[in-house]
Amino acid sequence: MKAVRVTPAQRARADSLLAALRTHYPDAHCELAFTTPHELLVATILSAQSTDVGVNKATPALFARFPTPADYAKATPQEIEPYIRSLGFFRMKARALHESMKAVAERFGGEVPRTMEELLGLRGVARKTASVVLGNAYGINEGIPVDTHVQRLSVRLGLAPAGSTPGQIEQRLMALFPREQWCDLSHMIIWHGRRACKARCPAGGGCHDHPICREFGTGCECRAKRDRGGETSVKKKARRGKAKP
Ligand code: SF4
Repeated sequence: MKAVRVTPAQRARADSLLAALRTHYPDAHCELAFTTPHELLVATILSAQSTDVGVNKATPALFARFPTPADYAKATPQEIEPYIRSLGFFRMKARALHESMKAVAERFGGEVPRTMEELLGLRGVARKTASVVLGNAYGINEGIPVDTHVQRLSVRLGLAPAGSTPGQIEQRLMALFPREQWCDLSHMIIWHGRRACKARCPAGGGCHDHPICREFGTGCECRAKRDRGGETSVKKKARRGKAKP
């Protein structure tokens, strides 16, 4: 993959953003509940298309019934399904848990591997999941997990151009931020996305006053809308009309 180039000014801006995120979210951390690397891997596989809150409701009973990777390996996917039925795509996820844990038990002696390459060989594990596990279970910063919040906020905070793919965003963030910060960075962006800079543009415009937005929110569609004075259909028509040659 072609290395992304960033300017010293862009890196300095990224440093300021990192400092601002640290001030606002000093306790940001992974919000999936886990106590071991394999529990984190299981929870992260389950989190695809599901909320962390939903996953955290399902996992206590799942972890109690299957305490080790070998326990998932011994069970059939059908025996795993009832524990995760509340989550989307539960049949597919039950198969992924069975097969990935079987591989962990049989090929890696029951220990979740510590390299991106080995993790990517497990069923249900793509780069985002592997980065979450490496960063949060082992403190290894190998990539930056780009979920829906990181994707949205990277554009709004002017870190990546609109329309960038998750892969392009990850490359850009890796070029902008120091490696040892990658895991924390993803948590802080996710916390900001969950608590302040949400997907839906706020009706009252409250979030525009957030200090992080005021300083860094250069690529936000909500902000652009607010700056145009709101988008009533009458105003929108007038703006379009004026724009015509
Ligand atoms: S205006 Fe709101 S939604 Fe847009 S970047 Fe600022 S905080 Fe985020």
